Amino acid sequence: TERTYIMIKPDGVQRGLIGTIIQRFEQRGFILRGLKMMSVEKSHAEAHYADLSSKPFFGGLVEYICSAPVCAMCWEGKDVVKTGRKIIGATNPLASEPGTIRGDFCIDVGRNIIHGSDAVESAQKELALWFPDGVCE
Ligand code: ATP
Ligand code: MG
Repeated sequence: TERTYIMIKPDGVQRGLIGTIIQRFEQRGFILRGLKMMSVEKSHAEAHYADLSSKPFFGGLVEYICSAPVCAMCWEGKDVVKTGRKIIGATNPLASEPGTIRGDFCIDVGRNIIHGSDAVESAQKELALWFPDGVCE
């Protein structure tokens, strides 16, 4: 079955949203296969967001991800990559609908609580980066 990489960013952890976020994915029917708290090295954050390295906000984004521990997760289930992105909501706060995680809990694109892989191929790459020892089968 399909798997995706979901990460609660430092602001989501600090605001006490780990439980709420896990509940939303569980309620939808997805299965948690991997979970760990992690302090992120700069080089690791840069590798994760390598596709965005030319963006003006890249430096700030890497600093944000490294600023405090994140909660790294692997979720599994039918169409979990696309459905996970729907549960998370749009990147642009003006477009993130109430009922989504971003639409319910944040207003700033630079402090948007949560990451979700954007395609099956990026999910595989990201899971290999964040869970090099694998996850539960
Ligand atoms: P993510 O990859 O974290 O799930 P996303 O796929 O919705 O988010 P991307 O375009 O991949 O959006 O951007 C990655 C992250 O970079 C965003 O989640 C956000 O934290 C940050 N970001 C994106 N655009 C901006 C911006 N204009 N200003 C500041 N930060 C931004
Ligand atoms: Mg993205």
